[in-house]
Amino acid sequence: MRAIDQTHDPALKSWVESANRPAGDFPIQNLPFAVFRRAGVREPFRCGVAIGEQVLDLAALAALHPLEGQAQQALSACAQPALNGLMALGRGAWGALRQGLSQVLRAGAAHADRAAQALVPQSGVELALPARIGDYTDFYTSIHHATAVGRLFRPDQPLLANYKWVPIAYHGRTSSIGVSGQPVRRPHGQLKAQGAEAPRLAPTERLDYELEVGVFIGTGNPAGEPIGIDQAEEHVFGLCLLNDWSARDVQAWEYQPLGPFLAKNFATTISPWVVTLEALAPFRSPWHRPDADPQPLPYLDGAEMRSAGAVDLELTAWLETARMRARGAAPERLSCANFRHSYWSIAQMVAHHTANGCNLRPGDLLGSGTQSGPLSGEAGSLLELTAGGRQPLGLADGEMRTFLADGDRVILKGRCARPGFVHIGFGEAVGIVLPAA
Ligand code: CA
Repeated sequence: MRAIDQTHDPALKSWVESANRPAGDFPIQNLPFAVFRRAGVREPFRCGVAIGEQVLDLAALAALHPLEGQAQQALSACAQPALNGLMALGRGAWGALRQGLSQVLRAGAAHADRAAQALVPQSGVELALPARIGDYTDFYTSIHHATAVGRLFRPDQPLLANYKWVPIAYHGRTSSIGVSGQPVRRPHGQLKAQGAEAPRLAPTERLDYELEVGVFIGTGNPAGEPIGIDQAEEHVFGLCLLNDWSARDVQAWEYQPLGPFLAKNFATTISPWVVTLEALAPFRSPWHRPDADPQPLPYLDGAEMRSAGAVDLELTAWLETARMRARGAAPERLSCANFRHSYWSIAQMVAHHTANGCNLRPGDLLGSGTQSGPLSGEAGSLLELTAGGRQPLGLADGEMRTFLADGDRVILKGRCARPGFVHIGFGEAVGIVLPAA
């Protein structure tokens, strides 16, 4: 587990004034990474760190040689158009770079005037995917989501027998993962109406979002060498927000017996900022399994994981319809959940994924699966919020939704807060629904 240290000190302020505003996502205690370039300028993408409303250009900063040793080496890896180089360096380098960047950005820093030349306003940048994602695996770690969805698809047996023993997942598609701002074309698929003789190919009528957390793998493992539960988080670089767009009518027809395919592989949207496990150290919670449930097998259990294996991360999903946009109305909140309710932890996802010797690589992405809380308003998808489309949601100005309409913009947000610490945010993962081709 990462330790709480002076980089989390709530008294720390930055010489970048916008980082000290109380409502912001990116105070000096956060320091999340992204890949960016100045908008409208033909220049290479490179890594940056968010500080207030600015991006600190790490390629430009590296050229100033403000750090030493391992921290400077890690900084030099950030001149690349992806975070994979930094991810591969491992936890020692990530910690050293965080310490160094915290020193460079804090109020009273010696060379603040030089570092200020490496700032670019966030309003003027174009963001790219933070890493070259070799493989993407989507888990199903929220028992509340699994139970609610299971009830809709299989009323007689909502939760299958393996759920409480195996962290269930499927291998997803990386080619259609996009960064926030991604346009999502309403996909065609096989739809089979109840009682219909045969399916037909048509645009989905049940397009949905899924409110998820993305887990970026830092260092990988050699094929054939599982990662033990106590080492699992050493291999994790950080977290982002993830929207696993889903076509529910396609899913209902195609999912048995091999799981999701075309219902989910047309688009996945992630937030551009990766919040490191170092930044999340103050926001960890105990992980526990109800006494009445099967306890995890030994390879999925550990004292450290039990003491702080969960992450207290509030997740929200917001909807802005075309009509709201035209009226200038604010987006409406649909879902509010918390990652700390997850039935399986990040460490368990990593340990299970590699238990057979499967090798993970720097930049691999794991999805947590839709995060739904125990209460009805905490559901992380429209499928659950509308009881499978049977109970339409009323929006503020009289509009109704069962599933997403063309022109809808879905916005995911994440925020960690705890008394005694400065709260940190994840920015946004935004996608807009375009009409079918
Ligand atoms: Ca999913």
